[in-house]
Amino acid sequence: MPPGRCFLVGAGPGDPELLTIKALKAIQGATLLLVDDLVGEDIVALASPRARVIHVGKRGGCLSTPQAFIERLMLMAVQEGEIVVRLKGGDPFIFGRGGEEAEHLRAAGVEVEVINGITAGLAAATSLGIALTHREHAHGVMFLTGHAGHGQAGLDWCEIGRTARAAQITLVIYMGVASVREVEAGLLAGGLPARTPVALVRNASRADQEHAIADLGSLSHALQASGLASPCVFVIGDAVRAGNCVAALAQSMAL
Ligand code: SAH
Repeated sequence: MPPGRCFLVGAGPGDPELLTIKALKAIQGATLLLVDDLVGEDIVALASPRARVIHVGKRGGCLSTPQAFIERLMLMAVQEGEIVVRLKGGDPFIFGRGGEEAEHLRAAGVEVEVINGITAGLAAATSLGIALTHREHAHGVMFLTGHAGHGQAGLDWCEIGRTARAAQITLVIYMGVASVREVEAGLLAGGLPARTPVALVRNASRADQEHAIADLGSLSHALQASGLASPCVFVIGDAVRAGNCVAALAQSMAL
């Protein structure tokens, strides 16, 4: 039996045209695909008709498949000679637990090949013409999660606000919908000005993408008023001001 292989593949933010060529080749070559729920059906449809597809996400009324079960399944399939592709939204190593998965598989003796994807925060910013590190507005960018892992304390948003202000860092916050009030209050307490512009982007790069522009002082209010829900990223910082989405709004809001 030929040896199996295991790929951890980033499916990008949604638009199939944003897949890398490597990711596309891996998807087409898979005999078994394990698919997260942020991955759209148009990407899964690129797989061979002979491939088996298993959805392991939390949505659609089912509980999330336990991580340990997914890892055991991958392990067994590779040992049986399957070409396994674990398809994850965005980039496999930006949140979404790809790091843990690769670690567990390697510990069990399975070599994992990781293929990058375009992470949601990059796609969200670019879709609105926002250059995250525009030289006149930012010296760097931070990718942050609003959702702490089990048993972990959340981020110190006050400290992050202080750093973002002092070092002119654009903040890209994933999974921030539930903790938006703490994010807003903490960043303000850290000294990030209330008029700092914020872009909220849902379903970045998909046909049903939606966005809202606000300022930090009214972030949680704007989120509620816009009705934007997960999956949503917040892009916070002066770099947002230079995006093509803001020009019209900026005048009316005096951003
Ligand atoms: N690995 C993924 C992130 C997984 S964590 C990546 O690199 O993009 C899940 C979070 O990612 C969501 O709660 C949301 O904050 C963000 N997200 C994923 N896809 C998104 C999309 N198309 N538009 C906006 N946010 C998205």
